[in-house]
Amino acid sequence: SSFGFRDVDAREKVRMVRGVFDSVASNYDLMNDLMSGGVHRLWKDAAAAKLNPRPGETILDVAGGTGDMARRYSRMARRAQERRGGEDASVIVLDYNAEMILAGVQKGGEPEMIWTVGDAMALPIPDALVDAYSISFGIRNVADIAVALKEARRVLKPGGRFLCLEFSRPPAEAVRKAYDAWSFHAIPRIGEWVAKDRDSYQYLVESIRRFPDQATFKGMIEEAGFSRVAVTNLSGGVAAIHFGWAV
Ligand code: SAM
Repeated sequence: SSFGFRDVDAREKVRMVRGVFDSVASNYDLMNDLMSGGVHRLWKDAAAAKLNPRPGETILDVAGGTGDMARRYSRMARRAQERRGGEDASVIVLDYNAEMILAGVQKGGEPEMIWTVGDAMALPIPDALVDAYSISFGIRNVADIAVALKEARRVLKPGGRFLCLEFSRPPAEAVRKAYDAWSFHAIPRIGEWVAKDRDSYQYLVESIRRFPDQATFKGMIEEAGFSRVAVTNLSGGVAAIHFGWAV
């Protein structure tokens, strides 16, 4: 019957669409590993430990992509819950690119995770809902960083924690030179070979260059209403964690 054919078509379509998302996700993960030599995993582990997710908390990971940070938060909160008891945590992964969210769902979630499509500059989240806000390798791409920081402050409870993991500026001349050589020459080439997309990776390198250094970004976070903002350099300042408290 025609219904039968329609069903086959629909199933075929789902398979094709899934194929696209699989390649988005696996390409994305492969590129991260190649560009950072796998080090981004250690940076993410360090950032998750700093955020210190606890049982019963609501944690929001903005620009969460395929859920790398949210998976870490979920597992850490659950491990703490197994030791000390308490409620389940909720970890909201928010990204404005639905393809990234779908690729993340395909990769697999944790029971604590909730996937959402939304914009860092206009979060679909009520005021003072979350205990902790995080953004990992995302704020650099946001059109107006000050607006995103204000949104972070709005959705956090007073006393809530803010964490940003982002590329930054190595303070030591020697590290900076080595890193510049790597990023200006190697990264666009790897992008061309692996993702067949030199321009996007050229853009990536330039966006890292344009992003404010540690001290300037710390000032912006304070300006948005956070206190006791601390900076932790990773790999000699190639990346940095900014951590602060909502007042
Ligand atoms: N947080 C993930 C990680 O660390 O692997 C993904 C980082 S990925 C480099 C940057 C992500 O930011 C992309 O998934 C992109 O869609 C998202 N993004 C960029 N601008 C955004 C915005 N204004 N609101 C929400 N997500 C945004």
